[in-house]
Amino acid sequence: MNLKKVSFEESIGMNVVAHGKCLGCRACIVVCPFNCLEYKEGKPSLTKECKDCGICAQICPQYDWSWPKMENSVFGRERRSDEEFGVYRRLVIARATDNRLVEACQDGGVVTTLLTFAFENGIIDSAVVSGITKEKPLYPIPKLATTSDEILKYAGTRYSYSPSILSLAEAVEQKKTSIAFVGTPCQIRAVRKMQMLGLKRFTKSLKFLIGLMCSECFTYSGFIEKHIHGDLGLNLNDIEKINIKGKILVKTKSGVKTIPLAEAKKYARKSCKSCDDFSSELADISTGGLGLDGWTFTIIRTGKGEELCSKAEKAGFLDVNPVDEGAYALNLLRKLSKKKRKASKVY
Ligand SMILES: Cc1cc2nc3c(=O)[nH]c(=O)nc-3n(C[C@H](O)[C@H](O)[C@H](O)COP(=O)(O)OP(=O)(O)OC[C@H]3O[C@@H](n4cnc5c(N)ncnc54)[C@H](O)[C@@H]3O)c2cc1C
Repeated sequence: MNLKKVSFEESIGMNVVAHGKCLGCRACIVVCPFNCLEYKEGKPSLTKECKDCGICAQICPQYDWSWPKMENSVFGRERRSDEEFGVYRRLVIARATDNRLVEACQDGGVVTTLLTFAFENGIIDSAVVSGITKEKPLYPIPKLATTSDEILKYAGTRYSYSPSILSLAEAVEQKKTSIAFVGTPCQIRAVRKMQMLGLKRFTKSLKFLIGLMCSECFTYSGFIEKHIHGDLGLNLNDIEKINIKGKILVKTKSGVKTIPLAEAKKYARKSCKSCDDFSSELADISTGGLGLDGWTFTIIRTGKGEELCSKAEKAGFLDVNPVDEGAYALNLLRKLSKKKRKASKVY
């Protein structure tokens, strides 16, 4: 481990938190070997004197970031100039062969299907995902799924932030030996930094990382509580699914309510504007809806990702189609990747 000794304040504190760039992933809190950090009032802060070990700085997805360094670490090469959305091997549009799964999931159910396949075939013993509770509808909370039923129970997208790295720490505590990690681009980046730094305690049991495409997260208090519940008067318990397809589609038992995307954008988290990664460019497999209906656009980036997808397809869990050059979803992927990168530069 090659560590630059630097304090939390001099690194993350001054360069990330002070500039409103902390994404709230909690990775710094989880890896601090001296338990010096806590998450309070929307940001990490010291609870006792920092020992200047520098570990938090090294794993922060917003501090001292180098794409060439990270790509070399994950893929053994940097992206080619035509790989506008990161290094990849194969692009597919896929869906679960089980229609009930597609119904329960966000898009084509690729994430849930891959996790289920891996779990049922002994490839993983647990999956870090994001769940919900009855008490606070649509509020995402990190979850460690340890059964197929739990994997299915936590399917679907919640558009507010879920600090899933907390459940990676839980998996480590529970001594899980084969873990899948599902997360947003910032979380995938933090986990890749942990791997690069050689933080074996957190990474040795990780089998694969599934990334979610992400333009931004919306605040729960603003978007869900104030706008959807308060302004639109929708009962949050009646909402079956929220999806974004150019506009926000809120599906309830009595129909679908449409909200202009611009309305929701008012509640986007400010820190997300400083993130330049739309498609989880360092994941083994990246997934997104990209305007598709009932299918998941899937970017297979690594050998591990390829092996898992091919096995799930051969076993009949996934229906997989190639992506045509010129496909609307592919153009959208290029456009949104470019847009996010450009916006982060002016933040
Ligand atoms: C905050 C957010 C923003 C997104 N923005 C876009 C976008 O702009 N464009 C686009 O094409 N796709 C976006 N996605 C991805 C998209 O919504 C689907 O997750 C993806 O297409 C996979 O669909 P699926 O049916 O295969 O997933 P499923 O099989 O339904 O599985 C989804 C998995 O994601 C987990 N999850 C749910 N909510 C969260 C969360 N908040 N944080 C971490 N994990 C979570 C679930 O636990 C589940 O394991 C976004 C996802 C999130 C979480």
